Formats: sequence, structure tokens, C-alpha cells
Amino acid sequence: SIVTRFAPSPTGFLHIGGARTALFNWLYSRHMGGKFLLRIEDTDRARSTPEATQAIIDGLKWLGIDWDDDITYQFARAARHAEVAHQMLAAGRAYKCFATTEELDAMRAEQKEKGLPQRYDGRWRDRDPSEAPAGAPFVVRLKAPQDGATTVNDLVQGEVTVQNSQLDDLVMLRADGTPTYMLAVVVDDHDMGITHVIRGDDHLTNTFRQVQIFKANDWAVPTFSHIPLIHGPDGAKLSKRHGALGVEAYEEMGYLPAAMRNYLVRLGWAHGDDEYFSDAQAREWFDIKDVGRSPSRLDFLKLASVNQHYIKESADADLAAAVRPLVEAKLARALATGEVDLLTRAMPGLKPRAKTLVEIADGVLFYFKSRPLSLDDKAKAMVEKGSAILSQMQTRLKELPSWTAADLEAAARALSEEAGIKLGDIAQPLRAATTGSTVSPPIFEVMELLGRDEICGRIGDLSD
Ligand code: GLU
Repeated sequence: SIVTRFAPSPTGFLHIGGARTALFNWLYSRHMGGKFLLRIEDTDRARSTPEATQAIIDGLKWLGIDWDDDITYQFARAARHAEVAHQMLAAGRAYKCFATTEELDAMRAEQKEKGLPQRYDGRWRDRDPSEAPAGAPFVVRLKAPQDGATTVNDLVQGEVTVQNSQLDDLVMLRADGTPTYMLAVVVDDHDMGITHVIRGDDHLTNTFRQVQIFKANDWAVPTFSHIPLIHGPDGAKLSKRHGALGVEAYEEMGYLPAAMRNYLVRLGWAHGDDEYFSDAQAREWFDIKDVGRSPSRLDFLKLASVNQHYIKESADADLAAAVRPLVEAKLARALATGEVDLLTRAMPGLKPRAKTLVEIADGVLFYFKSRPLSLDDKAKAMVEKGSAILSQMQTRLKELPSWTAADLEAAARALSEEAGIKLGDIAQPLRAATTGSTVSPPIFEVMELLGRDEICGRIGDLSD
């Protein structure tokens, strides 16, 4: 059975590219009935922060991506990484290099002058360590093959080969005994039993070196899949300018996790022309070998329309539950039980058009505002213009025998006919007076939900 992993470096938030990498790994493991593991690559002590680790964990949880087993923290495994390097030394697969920094600088300067690629020249590869001064610092280097080639059969990129003569003997342990990233990744992937490495194609060049380390240990080499990066809407590499944001920003903007998953899985992968699919379908259909080789572009309009679809499909109670914290934050108070019910009943009026939860939250605030309601400028003007008809309507509202949207509309229509005006000439001032705005969900539904006392109260407040 297969094992995949997501191995972020906790140096910032979980950005959209990382989220998609995690999603592909997760879906592929679920598709194959395997495991999906999480490894936090916190070896860069200067740049790794606990806040970033937490942001990654929170981001994955929000997206609904769950991992198996405990989280592996790479830094905590440094002793194990060093142990492997020493085993490789003992087996003659690695060697100590005592070259000083000055020496290596001079070597590279000379290579540069001659127009040669700057590579470690293997000067300690075959030397006896006893030739070094006693107690001199050393690094441990891989004794990489010098002939032949290293080939990767990448499930996305196809067969990729590099001549071994192009790769020098990489450092695995630094002079202070700490492992390099290249060693740590390989040891961890091996120890975690990773069978499939799915990651961004910016790691492809590292892969040849990692394969060499696997082989030097006689370990099974995992199957690699290097997925193309996500570009901005203009096709350029994703940057801050494009809104290269953490997933928490998408949460704040009011995207639903299911919509994000559906949108992200389609960045680089497709199942025919299917636009929307359930998680069960995604698990059934997703296969890493169907991921394309060209970069995909972030398209915010598309994301919004996917979100709109998921909002429309949501059950009212679920949607209300998702919107509730946003509403409460905007009101700076908790909703009472009756208000939660009102929020749920308000959903059908907003669901058909809203693109984000934030839009819905903004659109329902008027339900929960206390009297007297404050009106925006357009609404004020509308109420002034319609004050005569509003007070006539108010009289009828107070006596209306039943209070349903249909009866309310019928009453407004009757008055408009008697007065020889359009229905909108009543509906618009009513909307302005009762919602404080000139845009709202269908007004007679709003009035039904708010109830007679509140509606007549709000209208009455305006003439006091
Ligand atoms: N830690 C690396 C990164 O965040 C990923 C390494 C890997 O997937 O092998 O870019």
C-alpha cells in the first residue's frame, strides 16, 4: 500500500501552491487506499517558527485535509540523520572532506575564471583522512557515482536523466555535525516509508541528488511526481502582487473549504469536462499521472464562481453556521437563539447570488441591527422621496390580517394600483426604510422574516 507525504517548511503561511500539493498527496493516498503523512521540515532554525507550523496545521484542517499518524518534525530527527551519514562513512559510501572555506573559494574562483561549472572537485574523495591535521573540522560528502547517469521516471514529467558527471559530491553533514536538507529529506522519506513523493517541480533538480543518496544506502527509491507550479492570472510566477496569500486569507474572504478543494484540485488536473465533484468523486477519479505538465493559472473569477456554486448547494443550516461567526464579528456580539433561527431562514434570500460568505454576512446584518436603524445615503433619499406612500403603507401593514411574503406583496400591489404608481415605487422605499439600504434580498420575504412589530417599528422610527 502506498504512502505519500506533505513536507512543508514552516517559514510562512500555507500558501495556495502548498495547499494544492497537500491536496494532491492526500487525494492520491485516499484514491489508492494508502496513507498520507505530514512532515514539518523545520531544520532551518533561523527561518522556522512555531506560528508558521500552526498556520500550516490550521490551514490543512480548515481545508479538510487530514493526515495519518503523528506529525514528524524533521529537526527532532537530526541525530538519526547524522547516524545515517556515519553509517555511509563506515560503508565507504561517503567520505570526510577537510577542505577549508578559503580553499573551496579559491577552487571556485579558478573554475569561474576558466569558464568551468563551479563544482566541488572531489579533492578528498580518495584521500586518507589521516592526512588532515589532527582535530581539523570536516564535512561529510556523498561519494556520488562519477560515471553513468541518474534517471527519474517521474509520473508527471516523464523520464528525466542527468549525467552523473554533472553532479558533484554533495555535503550531507556540515562541519558542526548538522545534517543538510538533502540528507534529511531522504532519511525521513525512507524512515517514514514514503512510496510516492508528490511536490512542486521546483524540487526536480534536487531529486537526482536525493536518488543518489537513496541508492548509496541501498534503499528503495520512491516514485516521484513533480507538479507544475501555480502561476498568477497573468501567467507570471505567483507573487504577493497576485495575492499569493495564506489559506487563512481565503477563509477570511469567505470561501468554503469544499469550494477551495474543488477549485484547487482542478489546478493542473481535470476529469473530462466535469466542473464540480464531491470529495468521494475526487477520491475515486484523482490520479497523479493525469496531472498536466504546464503551469496552471490562478483565476479568481473562477474561484468565486466555484464558491458561488457551493454556497447555492449548501443546506441553509450549514450555510448559516458558516456565516454566523462572521456576522457575530461584524455585530461585535453573539446572536441569540431566535436570531440564529432568523439567520437560517434568511439564507434562501441570499444564497442564489452570493459569491462569498462575507457577502452573505454583509447582506444579513440589517436583520440584527437594533432600532432605530441607520440608513445609508441612498436609502435616506429614497425614504424622503417615498415618505407619503410609506405612511399609507404603514397604516395598511398594521392592519394586515396575515403576515406572509405573498400577502405583503399583494397589499403593496393593491396600494400601488390605487395610487396609480408602480409596485417598485412602494417596494423601494419599504426596502430603504426596513433594511437601511437600497439593495437587499427580496423585500417581502425580508418583511415576513422580520415580523410585523419590527417592520412597523422601523418604518415608524423614520417619522418620529
Ligand atoms: N520542505 C520543502 C518545501 O517546503 C518540500 C520538500 C519536499 O517535498 O521534498 O519546499
